[in-house]
Amino acid sequence: MISRSAIARLARSAGFLIGLLVLVTSVVTSVLAARDKQATAQDHTLDLTLEQQTAAVRNYFDQSRAIAQVLADSPVFIDFYKAPGTNKEKIAAGGPLLERVNDALAYLEQLYPGRVGEACFVDQDGTQIARVVDGYSSAAKDLRQNEEMASYFGPTMALGPARVYQTRAYQSPDTGRAVISNSILLTAYGHTGIVHFETSLDSFRMPATTGDRAASIVDAESGQVFVDSRVETTITENVDQTFVPLVRAGKLKGTMTLDGRRVAFQRMPATLNNANDWYVAVSAPSADGGWTQGLSVWSLALLLGALLTILVSGLSWRSHALSVRRAASHDALTGLPNREKFNERTRTALRGGRPAAALIINLQGFRTVNDVLGHRHGDLLLIQVAQRLTEAAPSGATVARIGADDFAVLLPGDDLASARVTADRLLAALHHTFLIDDFHLDVEANAGLAAAPEHGTDAETLLRHADAALHLAREQAATVQEYDAAHDTGADTRLELLGDLRRAIGADDQLSLHYQPKVCLASGRVTGVEALIRWQHPTLGRMAPDRFIPMAESTSLIRPLTTHVLDIAVRQAKLWADRGTPLPIAVNLSTRCLLDPGFAGQVFGLLYRTGLPAALLKLEITESAAMADPDRALTVLRALHDAGISLSLDDFGTGHSSMAYLQRLPVDELKIDKSFVQAMASSRADEVLVRTAITLGHNLGLQVVAEGVEDETAVVALQELGCDIAQGYHYARPMPPDEFDRWLITYSESLAALPTAS
Ligand code: C2E
Ligand code: CA
Ligand code: CA
Repeated sequence: MISRSAIARLARSAGFLIGLLVLVTSVVTSVLAARDKQATAQDHTLDLTLEQQTAAVRNYFDQSRAIAQVLADSPVFIDFYKAPGTNKEKIAAGGPLLERVNDALAYLEQLYPGRVGEACFVDQDGTQIARVVDGYSSAAKDLRQNEEMASYFGPTMALGPARVYQTRAYQSPDTGRAVISNSILLTAYGHTGIVHFETSLDSFRMPATTGDRAASIVDAESGQVFVDSRVETTITENVDQTFVPLVRAGKLKGTMTLDGRRVAFQRMPATLNNANDWYVAVSAPSADGGWTQGLSVWSLALLLGALLTILVSGLSWRSHALSVRRAASHDALTGLPNREKFNERTRTALRGGRPAAALIINLQGFRTVNDVLGHRHGDLLLIQVAQRLTEAAPSGATVARIGADDFAVLLPGDDLASARVTADRLLAALHHTFLIDDFHLDVEANAGLAAAPEHGTDAETLLRHADAALHLAREQAATVQEYDAAHDTGADTRLELLGDLRRAIGADDQLSLHYQPKVCLASGRVTGVEALIRWQHPTLGRMAPDRFIPMAESTSLIRPLTTHVLDIAVRQAKLWADRGTPLPIAVNLSTRCLLDPGFAGQVFGLLYRTGLPAALLKLEITESAAMADPDRALTVLRALHDAGISLSLDDFGTGHSSMAYLQRLPVDELKIDKSFVQAMASSRADEVLVRTAITLGHNLGLQVVAEGVEDETAVVALQELGCDIAQGYHYARPMPPDEFDRWLITYSESLAALPTAS
């Protein structure tokens, strides 16, 4: 018989054991769940980054392809073959013919800055006709004779015309850099040639990210790391073995842990016209450590272990939760508080009606740094700016990053006068040259200032008014500007409208294009159309472009907007061309596009993707746009023009143009502003201006267009003055595409019915 006390003891032990079991299981599951959660969060972030990186790589491939196409279309190669004599004789003769070929090759560097090192033009027999390395053309004696041995030659020949071949990565014999090459066939006058250029692998390098995250491009055959976002690309021995197991596993897409790093990867396999078989991989130190140790030992040590684990997991959870909370309230790049955190601190500072001031500081031309030097340098600049602002800010102040290049500073307890002194000091701190890698950068900044209680007593108002003051500072080219209610042109509605516009670009039922015909004054025929944007606002109804375009132009929103318009217009032009009624389409451009060196490449990419011939696209620019930064604008304009896109100078007569400058602009058409055309009938001065503009345009070899032609009288007057083209309500208002199609049929019929066209 077992004694009662023994049963009780047994029951107690069993209870204890069961309790222990429950405790351990719950500890283990909670630990595992915590780990899981952390790991899932990490995988998710890595996946997102991976998606961006693969898109970027694809984009690089596409861009260099588009540029190769543009190059192949250059008439200089045809002119070369057309000229009399053998290739050898022509090369030996040198002169303007070869100079033009070399210029076309050297020009690639401007189309694709910092990415192209070598470019050449090769005959079908493998002899180089011209070669340019880092902008310098090679002497005739240095040209290679047997390019048919090069890896690009055979595949390019086999692909046939109009397709670009991209080779595997190699070390360039000309520049010594790691590159891939792009080549395309061109045929002219019974000859076949190839244009070929190298794109540096380093240009595929993605901007470095924070938290020891790295983006890499890995050769899918050898596992060699071609590009690592953290280091400059050089051709090295395959010292980095990290990705070898990934390559061995051979999977297309997934996540795995390698060497303590969590890696999200995707393969970008080789295709017929791209020999690169790559993995794009994004990695970060693995979120899970070796936590399972000791949990399998069934003993009291287990309990201790479990308790310890509870403690550790609690601590680690706390730090994890803290870091999550920190991520939600801090900017990942600079580590500064973000807008939410800033608002929260402002609310605290203002509690009980205490005084405080808020400053918003914006860097001028930051976009240019990004565009010209790349996002990596842009990021480095922001980090340094954050450091300098933090160092220069008085103690107790909060420096936050609240936008791409917008920093906010909260000065608790400050009144306007002292905040102004601080603002000057902060801007002065940004005035010393920044050294980023090897670049010296001078940064200008503006600041908007608002103080409580005079400019608002709650955080949102204060920040909004500081923002309005910043806008005023930019407009008036002031460095620091205080909020001024008299100048606040309803920032509320402006901001709301900008938000609505941003959403409208994403939606596809609000923005559309209307088309207005341009008519040849001599023949009456329609020579093209101008695309004009229309916005059907969900609550405000139809918005005139004059109301939202200038607003978009004052922000970076004009870029996606222009892209959107170009996209619709090019597709429409392609539709008309495919239907057998090709009509050149003119799209209006804003200043910002002309200052963006990447813009031309973007247009080429669009043409390439849709297959629209460049001759069917026209871009309308204004003088003021081109004058804003003539040298930069000229580079972009030349690139567009050389690719066969025609350019039109819009609103002529309204700006202050210098003749010397006008002559340098590669435009094909001049549009006389409608105000002069409309006033022509009643005002002698305006008639003189129209007459002068027509003569001037013709002397420069340009077509002249009169806009705002509203009646027959204007048509006759313009015909007499020898104007080429007219556009205006007299012919038709801007119309949606289907209405335009119907109009065109009726108009063409009435034109055909006329006895003779003059
Ligand atoms: P714009 O480039 O000078 O365009 C011509 C404007 O004159 C258009 O106004 C057109 O509807 C109007 N118009 C045409 N014929 C006549 C006429 O006989 N009489 C009168 N009184 N007006 C005529 P809209 O469509 O309101 O566009 C206004 C401006 O907005 C444009 O001036 C252009 O600067 C800008 N814009 C329009 N669409 C776009 C776009 O897609 N992108 C950019 N960046 N700007 C655009
Ligand atoms: Ca226009
Ligand atoms: Ca115009």
